[in-house]
Amino acid sequence: MESFLVNNEGYYGDFGGAYIPEILHKCVTELQETYLTVLQSAEFRREYEQLLRDYVGRPTPLYYARRLSERYGCRLYLKREDLNHTGAHKINNTIGQILIARHMGKTRIIAETGAGQHGVATATVCALMNMECVVYMGKTDVERQHVNVEKMKMLGATVVPVTSGNMTLKDATNEAIRDWCCHPADTYYIIGSTVGPHPYPDMVARLQSVISEEIRKQLLEQEGRECPDYLIACVGGGSNAAGTIYHYVDTPAVQIVLAEAGGKGIESGMTAATIALGKMGIIHGARTYVIQNADGQIEEPYSISAGLDYPGIGPMHANLAARKRAFVLAVNDDEAVRAAYELTKLEGIIPALESAHALGALPKLTFKPTDVVVLTVSGRGDKDMETYLNNGTMC
Ligand SMILES: *Cc1c(COP(=O)(O)O)cnc(C)c1O
Repeated sequence: MESFLVNNEGYYGDFGGAYIPEILHKCVTELQETYLTVLQSAEFRREYEQLLRDYVGRPTPLYYARRLSERYGCRLYLKREDLNHTGAHKINNTIGQILIARHMGKTRIIAETGAGQHGVATATVCALMNMECVVYMGKTDVERQHVNVEKMKMLGATVVPVTSGNMTLKDATNEAIRDWCCHPADTYYIIGSTVGPHPYPDMVARLQSVISEEIRKQLLEQEGRECPDYLIACVGGGSNAAGTIYHYVDTPAVQIVLAEAGGKGIESGMTAATIALGKMGIIHGARTYVIQNADGQIEEPYSISAGLDYPGIGPMHANLAARKRAFVLAVNDDEAVRAAYELTKLEGIIPALESAHALGALPKLTFKPTDVVVLTVSGRGDKDMETYLNNGTMC
């Protein structure tokens, strides 16, 4: 059986690759040739694992949610990435990539950010490692995400507001790529999800795979078996989902459910449901599904959740969907908000809006009482309180 992990050429089936401008060829090739050696070195493993434990707070708990299990008629566990330092799974990736950057002798870090979550996670590790940090962020997002901008500045990062295009994530990413083209020798680009040219999707998936490594151990302890019947995660670019499924992806007995952002509905024109609506294209260096118009222009996506508001999708996930290894659902804004209130009331956990989309998949599935279900709560809801308060009447 062909694997659902990356092949030697950097592809997942028809998806992936590295479609980059000539000027970045050297940087990307250097990274392709370096990343596996670094990731597998004893020195990297030691430092990475120590930081995950003592700085991030891993392992995160695998929590048996008794009341939510009763509601959905299964044995439901929550993987608590919301309990990580900085409040989400993103730090697993930024810690790993900054160690790789340091190993490669880079002194300057750049990143793109939409809602500011990846920007904060990057600024955090730059403070920790004493590296210069420049974060590109669309001007619209700078205005919408004031607190995260202040956090990044307090952490010592320079935040550059981007005024091209719609002034959101896609434009910030273009600007970060432009910066990288101008400073290829000293600069390392930390991408925040399983997107971008090879090796980024695979590198980010490997760094997030600590999630499924822990799930295996914890399920064995708590259920007496390593494999759940279902894994459920939300997908923006796909990194928390990739981390959740990594060690199970080639085990067909484990069913994979991915929740993408339906926005106001996939027919409404205001959506970020890339797998439902996207067509094959190239975005930010990878061949994958892209939400685009008839002329191939990328369309502005929409979701109530800033972290899921991306017009592309990781090549790994596009392939999982194309080959029907994963079952992909669109969860709309109102369904996600309802699911967030439900988790809060039943379990006392306020999830991030992104994670609420994973929870919003539960009412759309039917389980047997013996089914073991693991759902990743990718982040905490502190950053989303205003949205919850403004939309509470949806419930
Ligand atoms: C950024 C973010 C996401 C979406 O990114 P993925 O790469 O798809 O995981 C999901 N949840 C939270 C809490 C986030 O901050």
